[in-house]
Amino acid sequence: MARNGGETELKNHSEEGTDFDFDLFVIGAGSGGVRASRFSATYGAKVGMCELPYHPISSETIGGVGGTCVIRGCVPKKILVYGASFGSDIEDARNYGWELNEKVDFNWKKLLEKKTNEINRLNGIYKRMLANAGVKLFEGEGKIVGPNEVEVTQVDGTKLSYSAKHILIATGGRAQVPNIPGQELGITSDEALSLEEFPKRAVILGGGYIAVEFASIWQGMGSTVNLVFRKELPLRGFDDEMRAVVARNLEGRGINLHPRTSLTQLIKTEDGIKVITDHGEELVADVVLFATGRAPNTKRLNLEAVGVELDNAGAIKVDEYSRTNIPSIWAVGDVTNRFNLTPVALLEGTCFAKTVFGSQPSKPDYSNIPYAVFSIPPLSVVGLSEEKAIEQANGDLLVFTSSFNPLRNTISGRQEKTVMKLVVDAETDRVLGASMCGPDAPEIMQGIAIALKFGATKAQFDSTVGIHPSAAEEFVTMRSVTRRVAAATKPRTNL
Ligand code: NDP
Repeated sequence: MARNGGETELKNHSEEGTDFDFDLFVIGAGSGGVRASRFSATYGAKVGMCELPYHPISSETIGGVGGTCVIRGCVPKKILVYGASFGSDIEDARNYGWELNEKVDFNWKKLLEKKTNEINRLNGIYKRMLANAGVKLFEGEGKIVGPNEVEVTQVDGTKLSYSAKHILIATGGRAQVPNIPGQELGITSDEALSLEEFPKRAVILGGGYIAVEFASIWQGMGSTVNLVFRKELPLRGFDDEMRAVVARNLEGRGINLHPRTSLTQLIKTEDGIKVITDHGEELVADVVLFATGRAPNTKRLNLEAVGVELDNAGAIKVDEYSRTNIPSIWAVGDVTNRFNLTPVALLEGTCFAKTVFGSQPSKPDYSNIPYAVFSIPPLSVVGLSEEKAIEQANGDLLVFTSSFNPLRNTISGRQEKTVMKLVVDAETDRVLGASMCGPDAPEIMQGIAIALKFGATKAQFDSTVGIHPSAAEEFVTMRSVTRRVAAATKPRTNL
């Protein structure tokens, strides 16, 4: 029942005869929450939703409709990747006859303003989409106070309380920073996407998506970038051979790599931030970015009040339908720490709505999820890495690789190979994994993902007519086996 808001008209009558204000109340209006609420409303559910006030930089009390992906993740990041890519495009253009007589300058503040305007626009679009779907949005922090009861604390401190037949938690995650002296001098990706001043010297800690992407963005815009990571190669979990290609490309573009290295201290000096590594090396930076992973946003939800179970990482434990151990409470997206990607949160949100309000019990299908790392050039993969295929395969594997100079580079003179790889089950001929590092890799891999999802064989790849001249055609013209890997071979390394 609604309190303090006087919204008695919201009251809804469930089929069991219990009165609820809403059929569904969603906490968190990011990718998963928005998708779940809109689709549930389309199925006829009466939906309420809360989200923290909007600002590009998040905190425990700041968020915004659109969530991480739209406000401080995928979208602004991709805008900056485009911005950074023009630098090398302009360089490449010279050999194509473009006379760039005047000095080319980059105006960070201009791009930042354009980016922020676009994010503000998207935030507005998301709000309108919710309103058009009939979802009632409340601005404030949501807490669970009972299996069917949520409390929303508004910015002015007023508390609203609503009952709902189902509660969906879709609060995402937040960047984590390492516990080292001077950690307060570093920033996370939130701030990195909204820096007032362009960092001429950057140190990035981490070897994951965010670290590699920001290294490319800042280097592409003219920074001196030092990328510090613990392993031999960046991007742990991806195919080792492709990780080596990414590392080579980052270095080739001028990024200083510090493998097998961590940071022990940050010290503020007159010249910037002094960064000390565990090898005793000293680096100086205007900005130190901690890209050291994200943690689920579960701390302030009051989950202990109803006993929603968490895993060791603080993520909400759910079953295959995204239901928690409390039957009326569900969770989707990064807060469940399954596959922390926007398209997966959308998938989980869709399946939730179908299951709960569409009378079609639906489990998200996590097979053959394609991934993209928007380094410059990007890496994109689908299916199994060679190492994972070796672990999982029953028989031998055939590995096909192609490393070539893209046509564009023959004139521009850029020394950067595009690399592609297919991992094939020798017995069934099924393509188990595909990878590409090179321009447009994510655009190409989306199509390859469809082929793998439907169990394409190498013979079917080979029988497909190529698009010429393109890099993509290489995926259907890799004829010679690069190596045959025996089933018993163990993964080569733990790089
Ligand atoms: P990742 O999990 O990708 O990488 C974290 C990195 O930080 C790893 O290299 C890890 O090293 C390192 N690390 C963790 N703790 C420490 C520490 N204390 N000291 C030094 N290094 C440390 O996280 P990101 O922050 O890059 O991204 C978060 C998530 O956001 C991703 O997992 C992904 O799900 C999502 N994302 C997706 C993108 C995309 O799809 N393009 C883009 C950006 C983010 P080690 O490998 O040694 O453990």
